[in-house]
Amino acid sequence: IKKIGVLTSGGDSPGMNAAIRSVVRTCAFHNIGCVGIYRGYQGMIEGDFKEMGPRSVNNIVNKGGTILKSARSMDFKTPEGREKAHKNLVKAGIDALVVIGGDGSFTGALLFNSEYDFPVMGIPGTIDNDIYGTSYTLGYDTALNTVVEVIDKIRDTASSHNRLFLIEVMGRDAGHIALNAGIGAGAEEILIPEEDLGLDRLLDSLRKSKAAGKSSSIVVISEGDKIGKTVFELKDYVESNFPEYDVRVSVLGHMQRGGAPSCFDRVLASRLGVKAVESLLEGESNYMVGILADKIVLTPLEQAIKGDSEIDTELLRVSDIMSI
Ligand code: ATP
Repeated sequence: IKKIGVLTSGGDSPGMNAAIRSVVRTCAFHNIGCVGIYRGYQGMIEGDFKEMGPRSVNNIVNKGGTILKSARSMDFKTPEGREKAHKNLVKAGIDALVVIGGDGSFTGALLFNSEYDFPVMGIPGTIDNDIYGTSYTLGYDTALNTVVEVIDKIRDTASSHNRLFLIEVMGRDAGHIALNAGIGAGAEEILIPEEDLGLDRLLDSLRKSKAAGKSSSIVVISEGDKIGKTVFELKDYVESNFPEYDVRVSVLGHMQRGGAPSCFDRVLASRLGVKAVESLLEGESNYMVGILADKIVLTPLEQAIKGDSEIDTELLRVSDIMSI
């Protein structure tokens, strides 16, 4: 391998820049070329490339988002699109790819490999932490810290006015952000898609809170929760059962995806980037690099795509005990 291409694809997440930096510098360390591919697979199809050296990634370790930009590319889902992309890579002398993204991006990478026998390595970048084969995805830790910081602020106003706050957080179909940030921020109740809590239990739990003398409450709800109501409908439902509560809704939204990456995400990104490049140089392909029990490990992309990133059920118990 003489030259590696690196791209970010799907939703952006804090730590992607630190991963780009790590890939670029690891290539330089091993005296091979590195090319930044802009706007994910779309840039690959359009030949939107830039040669990158160690100095082209100065001052980005601390930046959120991705300097290479990200995109969702419909064209890459077509054989014609992938053929164009392959031609551009060959023309640019790129002979391996590091794809930073989520499971959709990995699916594209795997398909590309099967068609062109092109070496690919994935780095999990998403705040949702919903990828099998890694305990942490890039951006997840930063998002948790952001969510906790915001809920702390909301708690100030909740407790000053005896309000009940329903706070919706991101996470797609996974409850990792809700569960961990909920415990971290001391939420009374946490609703996640993995555990079908049901509305009765929510009301039960609010009743208990009230009986225990709590004058304000924080309920954290994962956006993927299957309760069958939007968070605004839930507000109406709770208010009709608890007329004494002043219920407010806060949907945190995209602020959760932004901001400077935490130290944890920066270190993780640096480690994953080194492993991704060095694994390609060792002749490996079709893997995702991840972290399990603090060791950087490879998981076949196929498993990373198909496997479930299970939540730790003990955390549910901890959350219950904390809200006594
Ligand atoms: P996030 O978790 O943030 O959504 P993701 O990587 O899962 O990230 P997707 O939008 O699902 O995001 O996928 C990113 C890109 O990967 C798509 O826009 C497309 O170009 C490519 N891709 C996804 N699925 C396929 C597929 N089945 N075949 C070819 N390319 C694909």
